[in-house]
Amino acid sequence: MRPYVCPDQLGEGEVATWAPSSSTLISGPAEGILIDALLTFENADQIAAWAKNFGKKITGVYITHGHSDHWLGLARLLQHFPEARGYAAPEVAARATWEAEFNKTSKYWTSRFPGELPETPVVPEVLNTDEIPVDSQVVNLIHVGQGDIEGSTIFHVPSAAAVVCGDVVYNNVHMMMYEANEAKREAWIASIDAVAALNAKTVVAGHKSVGAADLPENLAASQRYLRDFSTLAKKGGTVEDLVHGMLELHGERDQPHTLWISARAEVVRRA
Ligand SMILES: [Zn+2]
Repeated sequence: MRPYVCPDQLGEGEVATWAPSSSTLISGPAEGILIDALLTFENADQIAAWAKNFGKKITGVYITHGHSDHWLGLARLLQHFPEARGYAAPEVAARATWEAEFNKTSKYWTSRFPGELPETPVVPEVLNTDEIPVDSQVVNLIHVGQGDIEGSTIFHVPSAAAVVCGDVVYNNVHMMMYEANEAKREAWIASIDAVAALNAKTVVAGHKSVGAADLPENLAASQRYLRDFSTLAKKGGTVEDLVHGMLELHGERDQPHTLWISARAEVVRRA
């Protein structure tokens, strides 16, 4: 978690921090791909320095979903890997393009991270296949649909029994429901069922506590969190009621600021 310039009116005890986030290297003997480029120059520099330790040829950077905190770092990251390009499924690239345009007028991202983001973002290119070769193995892109945003994708690595989930799964971090009303939360729970059916042994979440284990248990835990939020939200009450009710059940999670954002959005939707 790190501070950022937050324009919102904060709740009592709320601190404006950005969620801990993950980027993943999937590699064979010689080649590797990166999943998600994250947000700031610092994020991209750290990913590059870390990935270079493995000595693989990075052939591409693939983006899980359109939220800018998962791809705005692409411009900087590709400078570290000039032979690679950024790719995403059509629905992800479309949302990323929309977010880049939205930021031009709203300054949504550049006002929150002044001086830390590229002047000209590099939007991921449209990927017209769901099979990504890495050395002799294939990584499957799966269009899972609803996560914390519509049109989310995940990356399944059958040869490693691993799945990289972006923001379809969270690991010990409060889950973002700014764009997920109750019906979308139900669809999100179904998306997690689809991930669970892959029976992966390693499940990497888009937002995870530093050092948290990438266990399959994060699937059911994410579903439980979404269901608990819906149960509490249906009781009515204030933003504070919803936040405090969730903290009683899930107080061990990092990034309570995200819970405040989700609760404010839910109360606005209810009004
Ligand atoms: Zn995210």
